Amino acid sequence: MSTRLILATRNQHKVTELRAILADAGLDVELIGADAYPEIPDVPETGVTFAENALLKAHALARATGLPAVADDSGLCVDVLNGAPGIFSARWSGKHGDDRANLDLLLAQLSDIAEPHRGAHFFCAAALALPDGTERVVEGRLLGTLRTAPAGDGGFGYDPILQPLGGTRTCAELTADEKNAISHRGKAFRALAPVVRDLLA
Ligand code: IMP
Repeated sequence: MSTRLILATRNQHKVTELRAILADAGLDVELIGADAYPEIPDVPETGVTFAENALLKAHALARATGLPAVADDSGLCVDVLNGAPGIFSARWSGKHGDDRANLDLLLAQLSDIAEPHRGAHFFCAAALALPDGTERVVEGRLLGTLRTAPAGDGGFGYDPILQPLGGTRTCAELTADEKNAISHRGKAFRALAPVVRDLLA
């Protein structure tokens, strides 16, 4: 019988992405999303690092369901802002999840910063927690530079302004497959596969 694993998200795209990565790694794991447990409330992200927030979410879900649980936490880190917006990425403009307002504020803050100093990266921490309290955290980064104006209609969040290193298009101009192949979350999820194998398979 395959092992059941739950991912702390109600976003079906994340479930599909991790499921494909675990299958590619040859793991006999049945991945379900937190949607399967609508009665379990979301955990407040009270940590001060991506890893802390990912662990908080994974442990809470593992405790509530009795299943091994994976959670991820991610954001944009800008070099000249010493890593901000970081864990505040989703609410940089003050309003949670207003992608356009967050991106506009960031562009305004960086308006005087010249191209060589516009380095930034997406960061993702992915945590695995078991009901017995065992925990592991892995991470992934997507390095790039910030454009001065948004470009592209794909993706979400800060995708229209982050141009991956060595590329000519923003993340919002890549296909979903192109982005998954290089993304912080893709890298973190791929790093998680051997951890899942060691602890569960
Ligand atoms: P979450 O942890 O995946 O919910 O991401 C938190 C916030 O970080 C999002 O609301 C976005 O603002 C930003 N973010 C994380 N990953 C990405 C990405 O792949 N593209 C663009 N923005 C991202």
